[in-house]
Amino acid sequence: GTIGAAFDATSARHPDREALVDVSAGRRYTYAVLAEEVDRLARGLLAAGLAKGDRIGIWAPNCAEWTLTQLATAKIGAILVTINPAYRTHELTYVLGQSGIRMLVLAESFKTSDYVAMLEQARPDCPGLEQAFVIGQESWNALVASADEVPAERLAEVAAGLDAGEPINIQYTSGTTGFPKGATLSHRNILNNGYMVGETCRYTEEDRICIPVPFYHCFGMVMGNLAAVTHGACMVIPAPGFDPAATLAAVAQERCTSLYGVPTMFIAEWSLPDFASYDLSSVRTGIMAGSPCPASMMTKLIESGIEEVTIAYGMTETSPVSTQNRTDDTFEQKVETVGSVHPHLEIKVVDPATGETVPRGTPGEFCTKGYSVMLGYWEEPEKTAEVLVDGWMRTGDIGVMDDEGFVRITGRIKDMVIRGGENVYPREIEEFLYTHPDVQDVQVIGVPDERYGEELCAWVRMNDGAEPLTAEVVREFCAGRLAHYKIPRYVQVVDEFPMTVTGKVRKVEMRERTVADLG
Ligand code: ATP
Ligand code: MG
Repeated sequence: GTIGAAFDATSARHPDREALVDVSAGRRYTYAVLAEEVDRLARGLLAAGLAKGDRIGIWAPNCAEWTLTQLATAKIGAILVTINPAYRTHELTYVLGQSGIRMLVLAESFKTSDYVAMLEQARPDCPGLEQAFVIGQESWNALVASADEVPAERLAEVAAGLDAGEPINIQYTSGTTGFPKGATLSHRNILNNGYMVGETCRYTEEDRICIPVPFYHCFGMVMGNLAAVTHGACMVIPAPGFDPAATLAAVAQERCTSLYGVPTMFIAEWSLPDFASYDLSSVRTGIMAGSPCPASMMTKLIESGIEEVTIAYGMTETSPVSTQNRTDDTFEQKVETVGSVHPHLEIKVVDPATGETVPRGTPGEFCTKGYSVMLGYWEEPEKTAEVLVDGWMRTGDIGVMDDEGFVRITGRIKDMVIRGGENVYPREIEEFLYTHPDVQDVQVIGVPDERYGEELCAWVRMNDGAEPLTAEVVREFCAGRLAHYKIPRYVQVVDEFPMTVTGKVRKVEMRERTVADLG
């Protein structure tokens, strides 16, 4: 079925259950009220002239109206293009043009950014954009009020004419490894993935999910919103942007049973000076995902009483989740692997050069097949053909699968360094350098080298008060313990790494900067 039909079924089943809480805005919706508001907004969008297949953008941090827009657009079959709130005019113009957005829903402002002013600036470069609705402002209120022009029967007719295989969402990837691409996803893709995530977390209408991860990304809108909507659970939005203290306060106040985050979010929350003062006793489960999940952080979560917490692995192009831990996995499997394949999906590990499946235990490129694989990159048939081969999505991630089917992600192909013909996985060297007592955080990248093709460079953040590491000290530290070709030739001590807003380190940018520095 469609997302709209699934949402309606849940609302009819649990009308009086709480569906959505926007903590910082102080707003609460039961499923009955949410369903009513979703229908109003859907009729308003029809009145504004939006039709099935049209693209509508949303450029806003997490808020109740975001979720309303997600569900209302799904009901009329309009394709929601989710725009990263960190984007500025350059990226906004690109996304509006690339996906052909006719209407845009936007926040008035967020933190120091004035979205309305930025849009005005970008507008001359966005000839296709017809209408913009500013959440909470006159244009938004008028949109909702115009629902009166469209009878409920018309909405029902439109909803009945939708097919689950049609595109409903375009999500631009994080841009960790290059310029963002618009993954085009159908109802079937994301609704089923949200449902399976909810099943794996064993959600029921009793559950309350704290969602500090962004909605513009699958993690928030699928693993959060759609997992909730398919199970009658409640979506709890702690704050518009990520705030570790506000997140834990929302968990305590709303008695959340599940907590989401990318690893850096959990690390920030668990290192709050007043961490012990938050009552997290209601939390049963949760999901850590998005980038490599340190075993130490997983261990802390389990020891804090969140025994059913899981790690999930996936990517925007696969709706997103492909593997996830389950309640009955062993402790070791929970902290050290990204779990095993989700039901109704297939995964294989191949030699990236030949495409042949490698034996169990051998590292190779991870591929996913099944209902969750995107329709393609929006209007990028060549880029789609590079990654979608016979229904298999090539993830670009390097992983190892053990005999029981548990998966470890060891790196990304694009991050792999080939030095003098030897394949080097930066993650391995990073893990090793972490063991140096003065190192707080480290990232290893490859930089072009005339003699060896590539050479290794370590970017290091030092512990407070520690002497900056030099290349010589690193060499001595590694000598005799790491193969010579894995020892970084260059060391750069920095205060911060370049990050994406989803909390991932941007190695591309590090490479560019190192290459510039080396001249
Ligand atoms: P781009 O494709 O634009 O370079 P991106 O791949 O970071 O950006 P996403 O689709 O948000 O964009 O992220 C998916 C990637 O995140 C995966 O391909 C993988 O590299 C990484 N990832 C996700 N979950 C995990 C996990 N549990 N452990 C390790 N890596 C993970
Ligand atoms: Mg990617």
